[in-house]
Amino acid sequence: MLFRGRNSKGLNTGGRRGLFGRRRKERPSGQAANATQRRTVRLLVAGLLLLIIAFVLVLVLVQPASPGDQLRYDEFLSDIRANRIESATISVQDQRFTGTYDAGQYWISYGGGVQGNVLFQNMLQGLQTARVPTTIDQQPLKTALQPLIYVLPTFIFIDAFVLVFLSIRSSTGGLAQFGQSGSRRVKHGETRITFKDVAGVDEAVEELVEIRDYLEAPARFLSMGARVPSGILLVGPPGCGKTLLARAVAGEARVPFFSMSGSDFVEIFVGVGAARIRDLFREARLASPAIVFIDELDAVGRGRTQSAVSGQDEREATLNQLLVGLDGFESEPGVVVLAATNRPDVLDPALLRPGRFDRRVYVDLPDLNGRVGILNVHCRGKPLDDGVNLQALAKRTAGFSGADLAAVVNEAALLAARRGQTAISQSLLSEAVERLMAGPERKNRLLSPSDKELIAYHESGHALVSAVVNADDRVTKISIVSRGRAGGHTWFVQEEERRLATKAQMSARLTSLMGGRAAEQLFSGEPTSGAQDDIERATAMARRMICELGMSDKIGPVSLSLAVSRLLGDTEFLAPYSPDIAAVIDSEVHQLLEAARQEATEVLEQRRSALDSIAQKLLEVETLEGDELDALLYKDRSDRERAAGVTA
Ligand code: ADP
Ligand code: ZN
Ligand code: MG
Repeated sequence: MLFRGRNSKGLNTGGRRGLFGRRRKERPSGQAANATQRRTVRLLVAGLLLLIIAFVLVLVLVQPASPGDQLRYDEFLSDIRANRIESATISVQDQRFTGTYDAGQYWISYGGGVQGNVLFQNMLQGLQTARVPTTIDQQPLKTALQPLIYVLPTFIFIDAFVLVFLSIRSSTGGLAQFGQSGSRRVKHGETRITFKDVAGVDEAVEELVEIRDYLEAPARFLSMGARVPSGILLVGPPGCGKTLLARAVAGEARVPFFSMSGSDFVEIFVGVGAARIRDLFREARLASPAIVFIDELDAVGRGRTQSAVSGQDEREATLNQLLVGLDGFESEPGVVVLAATNRPDVLDPALLRPGRFDRRVYVDLPDLNGRVGILNVHCRGKPLDDGVNLQALAKRTAGFSGADLAAVVNEAALLAARRGQTAISQSLLSEAVERLMAGPERKNRLLSPSDKELIAYHESGHALVSAVVNADDRVTKISIVSRGRAGGHTWFVQEEERRLATKAQMSARLTSLMGGRAAEQLFSGEPTSGAQDDIERATAMARRMICELGMSDKIGPVSLSLAVSRLLGDTEFLAPYSPDIAAVIDSEVHQLLEAARQEATEVLEQRRSALDSIAQKLLEVETLEGDELDALLYKDRSDRERAAGVTA
């Protein structure tokens, strides 16, 4: 295994989250609406409980009185005649007689209706004839409560119905909310992120500062007759700070800032995405001057194609609405639309026409100074050891994105906390870089001594070959402590921060990649399975050199990559070359790789003793770095260089 910084296909940071770390399910501007809905639901539930309690209470209270024995009609009449009844009370509401007789208390119901009336008359007559003291209880409470028996259930029913309706609505995402944009309006000062939290992307910041200034005082710009761009597209690899920049604009802007993620517009139902866009733009127009931010624009802005894939209709409707909305802002200078994407190549060309996203701001991987700045931003407020050298760390992290660097600092802080240290030291930061690139060390992974020896030779081979043929990269560390899948690692830094590579430099890298396999073969006489990753990477690099970079004389400066087909709008993913050319590519790739392997083998054969001593040392100490490593790898080279310098 061999490491050199990280290319742009590095870690992607996390899944797709809305701006400000919210999951997109929680529709931000629906937030307030959600809160009121929650409150309503809580009220309804409480009301339902109260109503049920009241109903039960009423039922208990209107329960007819039934003290003592229930007398039969004939018993009652004969008891009256026998003078056994001592008193009687007519409970009007209960339609009963109650009272005492010689055996205690009694009650008897006469019921309602005509029949009840007759019974009542008869009983009353009997009581009068026998001169039983009879009182009337009008039962005013029961009379008052009576209607509630019918009213309360009605209310209970209505309450429950509304509750069920609301819960169905919220579980389907709110039918009524479907058309609403659900954008989040960020209030000024709400996010504390400012341009100070962004480093290494100065050009982009400059551009955005201009926009902020314009929106604060549009008159100044308009009086100059200047047309300020209404759409700005932030373009760059993942993790380089596009979303962060937008958050900083939101934090700095003194105008309303609406943000939404492109994936929020992608719905199953045709027309919903378009309605959201319409709603978002309407809100922004009402709040003008304002900024609208659409993150992950490629989710909506993908090029329209003829293919009849399901879901196309919805996407096209949404995209068309987006285009219409952008055109609307052109005539209306108060609204600026920001968008971010890491796939500008898949965007519909119509989006990039003048008047729409006509200004592109590149948010690229940070250079050395940028990385120092980003490390500084993320180390702010963390306890750092005096010996920390961020410059050196930045040098080691060529190809890291801002998100990767943030992860490095965070990982180092975690390590420091886990190990009970009071400050973050340089060695922790280095360890964090290595962990991020290759995974944590697996010290207790058991290896047979012969495997260990093979790995030591493999890594020594990479290091030695690289030291001899590759002047652009400096080996900084060799290790045979396994991490992740790989048995050992060789780490490099670029001597100089470069964006371009010559064919010779790339070939030198191919040779270093082959150094591992070559050393193994010298040592054991046989190829092993340990070089798979190296071979894959070398093959990919060789193919790129030939098919994309025009570095093969036989093929010439012709691009044979799929990017060309995309550029031409082809929708079929077919290789854009003939079978004859395919054969030439194969032989050219083979030749490059074979030449690299041969050179690596020669280099090592000539330095067999050096290879042996590095490998033996590595077996002994497991990790070589710093002066010790330089002494083994670079001593005679620097001697030679010095000698050359003297004679020249
Ligand atoms: P993307 O370009 O993919 O939208 P983000 O803006 O989401 O990247 O960056 C992810 C995280 O990485 C940020 O929250 C921040 O912590 C860190 N980061 C990325 N770029 C920078 C930068 N230029 N300066 C400071 N921090 C950065
Ligand atoms: Zn290797
Ligand atoms: Mg982003």
